[in-house]
Amino acid sequence: MDFNDIVVSLKASDVKLNYDAHCIIAKELDYPLHIGITESGTIRSGKIKSAVGIGALLLAGIGDTMRVSLTGDPVEEVRFAKELLHAVGLRKSGIELISCPTCGRTRVDLVRLADQVEERLAPYQERWAKEGRKPIKIAVMGCEVNGPGEASDADMGIAFGGGRSALFKKGALIGTYPAEESLNLLFDMIDSELEDSQER
Ligand code: SF4
Repeated sequence: MDFNDIVVSLKASDVKLNYDAHCIIAKELDYPLHIGITESGTIRSGKIKSAVGIGALLLAGIGDTMRVSLTGDPVEEVRFAKELLHAVGLRKSGIELISCPTCGRTRVDLVRLADQVEERLAPYQERWAKEGRKPIKIAVMGCEVNGPGEASDADMGIAFGGGRSALFKKGALIGTYPAEESLNLLFDMIDSELEDSQER
């Protein structure tokens, strides 16, 4: 019919089948591909299948548009799709939070502290993306042994120790403080970053 303005979509709920089919069609066609794992399941299991299924395709350079399909709030589908693009390095916006998995060296409630940072970062994330700001990385680490390396490698970071925690900015140690104080100082640093760039 001489009509070429199309996007092709293949979908399966089986991750391996979906991957293999896309690898074949990507070689056969020049059309853009809309990718996703259909009927992937509930929020929890659907995210795992989508992360593997869509993530593998994106890393192989396959896919031009995408849909994460979850049995849940569609807002969560979009949020997770953005996280996925971030994870494979195709979306570089906002604030990336890295945190360690904790181990025998952790002497603080790092899970609670990292959750707090993530929660407090949420409004900043929106703003960072909306204003098209340069992406930054924030590290929240659980000990004074391996923590300072990652924390100083990030734009801003905290390495929590037993009594005190070390706060870093762009590789430099700012000081050591009690845990809660470090958290507040971290957000003061993010605020001043925003103010500095507004004044420029
Ligand atoms: S940074 Fe420290 S506490 Fe966290 S996993 Fe590594 S060694 Fe353990």
